[in-house]
Amino acid sequence: MGGYAGKILFINFSRKSRKKWNTRSFTKTTMRKYLGGRGLAAYLLYKHNPKGIDSLSPKNNLIVASGPLAGTFVPAGGKITFASKSPLTGGYGNSNMGGHLAAELKYAGYDALIIEGKANKPSMLVIDDGHIEIRDAGKYWGMHSIDAEKALKEDLGEDFQIAVIGPAGENLVRFACISHDFGRQAGRTGMGAVMGSKNLKAICVRGTRGIPIHDIEAMMEKGREMFTDCLTSENQKHWTRYGTPGVTDWVNEIGAFPVRNFKGEWFVHHKHLNGETMREKIVIGDKGCFGCPMPCGKVSHATKNGAYDVYVEGPEYETIALCGGNCCLGDISDVAYINYLLDQYGIDTISGGAVMAFAIECFQKNIISLVMTRGRKLDFGDVETMEFLAKEIAEQKSELGRILALGTKKAAQILGGDSFVAAIQVKGLEQSGYGIRDAPAMALSYITCGIGAHHNDSWAITRDIEKGRKLLEGKAEWVVYLQHIRPLFDMFGTCRLQWVELPNFSLEHYPEIFKCVTGLDFTLEELLEKSERIFNLTRCFWKRENPDFGRAYDQPPVRFLKEEVPLGPTCGAKLDQEKVDYLLDDYYKLRGWDKNGIPTKEKLEELGLDFIVKDLYPDSEK
Ligand code: SF4
Repeated sequence: MGGYAGKILFINFSRKSRKKWNTRSFTKTTMRKYLGGRGLAAYLLYKHNPKGIDSLSPKNNLIVASGPLAGTFVPAGGKITFASKSPLTGGYGNSNMGGHLAAELKYAGYDALIIEGKANKPSMLVIDDGHIEIRDAGKYWGMHSIDAEKALKEDLGEDFQIAVIGPAGENLVRFACISHDFGRQAGRTGMGAVMGSKNLKAICVRGTRGIPIHDIEAMMEKGREMFTDCLTSENQKHWTRYGTPGVTDWVNEIGAFPVRNFKGEWFVHHKHLNGETMREKIVIGDKGCFGCPMPCGKVSHATKNGAYDVYVEGPEYETIALCGGNCCLGDISDVAYINYLLDQYGIDTISGGAVMAFAIECFQKNIISLVMTRGRKLDFGDVETMEFLAKEIAEQKSELGRILALGTKKAAQILGGDSFVAAIQVKGLEQSGYGIRDAPAMALSYITCGIGAHHNDSWAITRDIEKGRKLLEGKAEWVVYLQHIRPLFDMFGTCRLQWVELPNFSLEHYPEIFKCVTGLDFTLEELLEKSERIFNLTRCFWKRENPDFGRAYDQPPVRFLKEEVPLGPTCGAKLDQEKVDYLLDDYYKLRGWDKNGIPTKEKLEELGLDFIVKDLYPDSEK
């Protein structure tokens, strides 16, 4: 079968013998069912993780999975998935990362890694084609992410692709990220903390082998057509020039830009944070992932009166939203500087920005006291407050740092009082950068997303704008549709942004190139059915790990039900429970789930997930 390296590498750091790894081939049936990338990762996690384990225990597996199109002649085939039981949410954790690791892993001969156990000292995994080594990483432990990656490249060779954690991952901050290529992150759901819990500082990969291709000439022809479509699109130029910060003005204009811990959804200083300002003031270069014809990464140089002078890849829109507007920073250089700090500590900038805004609000409500901050005032719009908080969280030397490092949901449970209103999260995952009080499709996207409040599965806010923001009918249908399409790219191992951002870039390209590469002939509908299978599998993982899981978990942040937007285009808007219930009823029905949002036995059987039935329905005959 083309497109696949053909092997999965199992590493168990706790194994007593000297050799701590072995490889296994996978069956064609497995790949036909789960494709690869996110699909394979979700399946392997469900299968290999023992039920009910602590997410920071050695038994929690970290799965790293590339997809069948990664590293081939397809636009932007450079995406890799990290999956594990999330230490932030206690449910399915997953984060997708660009860069060059996905291709390199396949060139080294592996489609996926399953990492189990805990090393008895700081270690790193070195994969050099077929040669596997676990090396002492004491020298790098404690280093910041970017510095550690630099040092590892110097020691191992520039041609190694490296995934590394910073101090936040080492100290088990629940929203620590995994960093790669000096600016790409697997940011969400705390995958960096899982690496830290295994004493694993870095995964270093070099591969020089090829990938079997079913029909190489057909792939080259189809690939050329896809690249040409990308490169000749008018939007390609706009996207390459501004990257994701190009949407800042639009999000603000529609009244969905987070401000002051999502109290507001419109920011007066947005012009200082938009793509044009960023390009003019701080961007010094463009950077892309493997094989990308529209590089959205922006390399920036942020400097201010001797206070800081740093180079960083970013900020992305999400960082601008969460560390900018949400913390009331109105200067793009300041946002880039905070981006740099969080990248160095190895903290997800979305959760990081949200937790900092949460802390400032709690301080202003006297829930966090001056004693806890050791006499330091916490203010919105203050870079030094954010510097202080980032350090507290990453190092966890104080009570405040240790509480905030748990994420907003758990921190609110400890702090009590009104702090739960300041915790802008769903299922424990801090919400990414779109206000939802006047955007029901986007609200539904967040509350039903497979990892918590993230936009990766469904970015449906455009549907709210196109079809009407008050309208509820039809929104669930659209969210389900997106939740099958968008994760499909993660299963292929490609970026979805070519399809999202370039209006004429057809989805129909994908079954065709998939066939050229793998030899497997699936229609788009059949591929989407596989994506639906994975969405359900993920849902079942939540249920297996959390017996009380269901509708109560699919709820928006309390703030959006209690407080109206104070000003701007969505002034006066608020969600209410009736609307949320309407959307969920509609959504569950479309998905074939019961009223509590659990996939029915019939649905699981229809999707070929029979092996899950006994976990969810132990009394059934099968
Ligand atoms: S569009 Fe951006 S995220 Fe996607 S592959 Fe290109 S550089 Fe990477």
